[in-house]
Amino acid sequence: MRTLKRTKSMGLLVATVVAAGLVPLTAGTAGAAPVAAAAATGSCPTAGTVTQGYHSGHDGVDIANNRGTPIYSTGAGTVIVSGTASGYGQWIRIRHDDGTVTEYGHMYERLVSVNQRVNSGQLIARMGSEGQSTGPHLHFEAHASTASTRGMDPVSYLSARGVNLPCTPGSGTPGTNFTTWGTSVRVRQEPRLNAAVVRTLTGPTAVYVQCQTRGDSVTAEGHTNDAWSYIPALGGYITNIYIDHPAAWLPGVNQC
Ligand SMILES: [Zn+2]
Repeated sequence: MRTLKRTKSMGLLVATVVAAGLVPLTAGTAGAAPVAAAAATGSCPTAGTVTQGYHSGHDGVDIANNRGTPIYSTGAGTVIVSGTASGYGQWIRIRHDDGTVTEYGHMYERLVSVNQRVNSGQLIARMGSEGQSTGPHLHFEAHASTASTRGMDPVSYLSARGVNLPCTPGSGTPGTNFTTWGTSVRVRQEPRLNAAVVRTLTGPTAVYVQCQTRGDSVTAEGHTNDAWSYIPALGGYITNIYIDHPAAWLPGVNQC
């Protein structure tokens, strides 16, 4: 017998103890921390034209586009600054799981707040021309740590994470952020039990959950949950019951 820690707090917990062998056990199942690995690769911060590079006197790179162009976090992490700043007008800083910090300036709209957890590629702001700026652009910086006073070359920083400027948001392969568990897990076209099955996962699979949404209530493996994860690479949705995380709704994942 083994006790599973998949409490799925918002779901109805029917049974916490199941006979070994009835539930496929994955690495990390027995009492280990939830699997929520950081994205290993970076995401494109925004679409646009590089109008100024990194040089002495300019700690970042400028990417220009229309006002309102979406700006994305280049990696998973925690928002440590989101507010106004002289020069920048508004700025956001994100501390990533590898200790590095990325910084975004001049936005006219900020969509994240301090202490918020963000995923790689998550929408965080919209491009503006606030502060000392001659037109709508993103000023992007990368820092070695929260202690650094000068940015490092942001082009090299992004390139080391698989992002080469100019870049297209959403392209490439985002890092995985969760792992599924169980066997014969059905991926459906819509978050409904009667939706077409687009594929079946035969075992634990590292996935990138882009967003989650409320769908049909599912009862399986001793849990009932109506939250579903959208996994673009698999072309559909799986019930959150089969995402290896104790919460019914995954932390840091937007609603679809
Ligand atoms: Zn700049």
